[in-house]
Amino acid sequence: MAGVCRSETRVVAMDFGVSDEMATMLAMIGEFMVREVIPLEGEMLHGDPALLAEGVHAAQAKVKQMGLWAPNHPVEFGGLGLSMVDHGLFAEAVGRSPLGMLVFGTQAPDAGNVEILHQYATDEQRERFLRPLVAGEIRSCFSMTEPETAGSNPVLIATTAVVDGEDYVINGQKWFTSSADGAAFAIVMAVTDPDAPPHQRTSMIIVPTDTPGFNLVRNVSVMGHVGTGHDSHAEVIYQSCRVPRTNLLGPEGGGFMIAQDRLGPGRIHHCMRWLGIANRAFEMMCSRANARVVDVDGGTLADRQVIQHWAAELDAEIRGARLQTLHAAWMIDRHGARAARNEISAIKFTVANTMLRAVDTAIQVHGALGVTDDTILSYWYRHERAARIYDGADEVHKTSLGRRILRSHAQL
Ligand SMILES: Cc1cc2nc3c(=O)[nH]c(=O)nc-3n(C[C@H](O)[C@H](O)[C@H](O)COP(=O)(O)OP(=O)(O)OC[C@H]3O[C@@H](n4cnc5c(N)ncnc54)[C@H](O)[C@@H]3O)c2cc1C
Repeated sequence: MAGVCRSETRVVAMDFGVSDEMATMLAMIGEFMVREVIPLEGEMLHGDPALLAEGVHAAQAKVKQMGLWAPNHPVEFGGLGLSMVDHGLFAEAVGRSPLGMLVFGTQAPDAGNVEILHQYATDEQRERFLRPLVAGEIRSCFSMTEPETAGSNPVLIATTAVVDGEDYVINGQKWFTSSADGAAFAIVMAVTDPDAPPHQRTSMIIVPTDTPGFNLVRNVSVMGHVGTGHDSHAEVIYQSCRVPRTNLLGPEGGGFMIAQDRLGPGRIHHCMRWLGIANRAFEMMCSRANARVVDVDGGTLADRQVIQHWAAELDAEIRGARLQTLHAAWMIDRHGARAARNEISAIKFTVANTMLRAVDTAIQVHGALGVTDDTILSYWYRHERAARIYDGADEVHKTSLGRRILRSHAQL
């Protein structure tokens, strides 16, 4: 697949073609998703969480045997050193099931934590936290958002980490610390210097979850689902929670900068995972439309013009969103995440909305079946609405993108 890049100063041919090796890997993943991962969804929707955990564990072991465990990880830790475009294609393939990322060891929030630990951790932190995380022996969480301050602007964070001798003492309330339930450690964003300029007030600190004062109050119920383990969003109160100063991740005052590093490429992974969802919802919609007889003479939903229009519009929209996302990934590969921030902001709100439209339209075509838990569609409808909120709400991305676009035109 090739094209021409508009945002380069000179015309540059883009090529999203994949290597033979990558094509083989994508084919293996596609086949594994159908054979091993999608069949586990029944257990996820209706079954026993313990049986689901067993099934996921068995599938993870097979992924490791196939040599496909967490290809996003740094090469020195067994990852494959994929380009951002290849990484996106991988996320699209495993995104077809809510269990895909977990089975392949690339789930949020661990994947983002691996990235920042790899970039900023000391040797000791790497051995203690990064190595077992990469091996899938432990899980982690990321604790930034607070119920009492606007998460859209992390400079407002109120949680404090005060130096006391050789320790930090952390106090504050967080929520939506996803997957804290069962995690071995949290990376907490807290104010270490309230008098510093706003973007240098906070730091990232690693807090093992068995530290006294790390209080997991509850898993917050989301759209009727409390969740457990990886599939949960915790409220956590840090109450005189004391960790050694050596648990500081990166420089003191570097919290905001590290949070930005964590979110840039992560948005490509989210967008491509959402495209996996959009693709599968679209395929389900088309199958249902072809099969569902609505006329006495055997005519199906697919014979109706309104459904034909939905299919045409969605197909075009998904293809457009996919090309836009691959372009953003290509820009990151070529120029780095900072240079691609306009492209990243644009795909964050575009792809989230395309995915939600695909899920909603597929539900409409399925009728009553669409809102039952007999298909995966209702799960996505509940769980993926948040796509327009986390990692930057639509409005925040549109405002900053629009501002930059208008400024760039003022300079012409
Ligand atoms: C499912 C899910 C998982 C999450 N996981 C994590 C996690 O693991 N760790 C973590 O720390 N956090 C997590 N979050 C929290 C997420 O990062 C925040 O919800 C997000 O940053 C928004 O913050 P807020 O909820 O405080 O909303 P607010 O900041 O209060 O914003 C509310 C709304 O106001 C509007 N808005 C905000 N700012 C502007 C603006 N400048 N201009 C125009 N409109 C604006 C937007 O519509 C926004 O949705 C998760 C959230 C969800 C829903």
